[in-house]
Amino acid sequence: MLKDSFGRTITDLRASVTDRCNFRCIYCRAAEPENYQPPEHLLRWPELLRLCGILGRLGLRKIRVTGGEPLVRPGVEDFIARLAELRLYDDIAVTTNGFALAERAARLRAAGLNRVNVSLDSLRADRFDRITRTRGALARVLAGIDAAAAIGLAPVKVNAVIVRGFNDDEIPDFARFARDHGLIMRFIEFMPLDADHIWDHTRVVPAAEIRRALLEVGLPLEELPRNHDSETALRYRFADGGPGEIGLVAPVSEPFCGKCSRIRLTADGKIRTCLFSRSDNDLRGLLRAAAPDADIAAEVRRIIETKEDGHHINDPDFVPANRTMVFIGG
Ligand code: SAM
Repeated sequence: MLKDSFGRTITDLRASVTDRCNFRCIYCRAAEPENYQPPEHLLRWPELLRLCGILGRLGLRKIRVTGGEPLVRPGVEDFIARLAELRLYDDIAVTTNGFALAERAARLRAAGLNRVNVSLDSLRADRFDRITRTRGALARVLAGIDAAAAIGLAPVKVNAVIVRGFNDDEIPDFARFARDHGLIMRFIEFMPLDADHIWDHTRVVPAAEIRRALLEVGLPLEELPRNHDSETALRYRFADGGPGEIGLVAPVSEPFCGKCSRIRLTADGKIRTCLFSRSDNDLRGLLRAAAPDADIAAEVRRIIETKEDGHHINDPDFVPANRTMVFIGG
């Protein structure tokens, strides 16, 4: 078992497989420029697989493949199949913007994927275009959500980052969407990880406000027990027993750092012990210097010892992370 210096057990890995993304969401990426890393900086599939093997043997149990947009990197199905063959992870999930999901869901499922999280920040086509800085993609994302559910990548979790003034008026519509589709709709508080620096506290819609908004439109919620201690979302069902579930992910207003079980691996081979870390821990150098597994494992143990107590977003002297979300992997 991997424990950090605060006694937290580290079981979850978020592995970013690319820093590329075909969306340019306003709360995440810069309007300009592209500033992607050179391809040779990114871990090759065998390097990534080797690291995932080392981390799995150290005790990580859940892996979420993310990005950038993981489905834009050719070979992701094959990578998931190799991951599943390792038989080290109990749960293999993907976080995607859903654009390519309709045509990929079956292959992902066949490769060994268990679950999928799909980002969806508006149900209105024109607004979806504005938020993601794309054109006409909403229908594809909705088709992707349907395809994932139909193929058994369940439960499908749909994530909306709520940004005041952009999509907070859609909270009831999202909740009805969860009921109509029988899926888990999760509202995520906007975090200071965006490239254009539009984040400030006034743009954050706290979880308590979302609960109130749903109550006001006749959709009261009842809290559900957490599936496990380190779950990021507070879980709710509809008080009338209707289908669907609501999750509130409240890192800003109700931080859950004390129960954090996560580390992140960036596409360029750095371990991050917190979304808000101000530095990274390089493993790519060790991999490319042909270090033995035992040396890499020892380095991972050392890194985990340095995991921060919390993110300190709400401190007056908060200093933002040294990377934005797309270069970390959410
Ligand atoms: N491209 C994939 C997607 O869209 O889900 C995976 C990567 S994306 C960086 C992972 C998650 O991070 C998405 O749910 C996205 O909405 C969320 N995210 C990005 N920037 C964020 C921010 N500033 N605050 C909160 N969540 C953010």
